[in-house]
Amino acid sequence: FFIVFEGIDGAGKTTQARLLAAALTRRGHPVVLTREPGGTPVGEKIRSLLLDPILAGLNPLAEALLYAGARAELVARTIRPALARGRVVISDRFVDSSLAYQGYGRCLDLKELEQLNALATGRLVANLTVLLDMPAAGALARLAGRADRIERERLEFFDRVRQGYLQLVKRAPERYLVLDGRLDCQELHRQILKAVEERL
Ligand code: C5P
Ligand code: MG
Repeated sequence: FFIVFEGIDGAGKTTQARLLAAALTRRGHPVVLTREPGGTPVGEKIRSLLLDPILAGLNPLAEALLYAGARAELVARTIRPALARGRVVISDRFVDSSLAYQGYGRCLDLKELEQLNALATGRLVANLTVLLDMPAAGALARLAGRADRIERERLEFFDRVRQGYLQLVKRAPERYLVLDGRLDCQELHRQILKAVEERL
């Protein structure tokens, strides 16, 4: 069973992915928690590269290819083998991040991005995607310690990404659990765990 957390920066994905992994582990489910970009030795190198300020302003297609490269490695080395062994795989981000960030955010062609990612993942699709939705301003404010000051351009970018995620949900609502990321952390966790246990 493959569960993905999605949402803009600061929406609470990492926190909720960890809480879910811990809760499922306590209930006796064998869990593999991973993240992307990253999750494998090479993927983590690609991640540091992508997060290096030196890459700010990188051509969006080159950026999308790096994300897809890290993702191909993660699927082949971690996710597919774990699923084959009956593990519950929880990933902090997956293909939808690229569609939302590089597609809606950076305005790359969505169809082409989907083809690229179908190739990278062998068309692996999550059984459940938890989208933590919230306004960009609130999410960026949460990251204030971690990020720079909030510029208008940054806000507009993350708002496009947020709207992108909501568009993706509209295409296949049955695959998603959309929750308000502004809810109390424990309340969010309770709702996510309930939805996952119903599906496992
Ligand atoms: O979710 P996480 O904080 O690990 O993501 C690292 C950074 O990579 C974030 O700042 C996020 O905005 C960015 N990112 C991106 N495009 C993706 C995935 C992540 O720009 N497809
Ligand atoms: Mg995070």
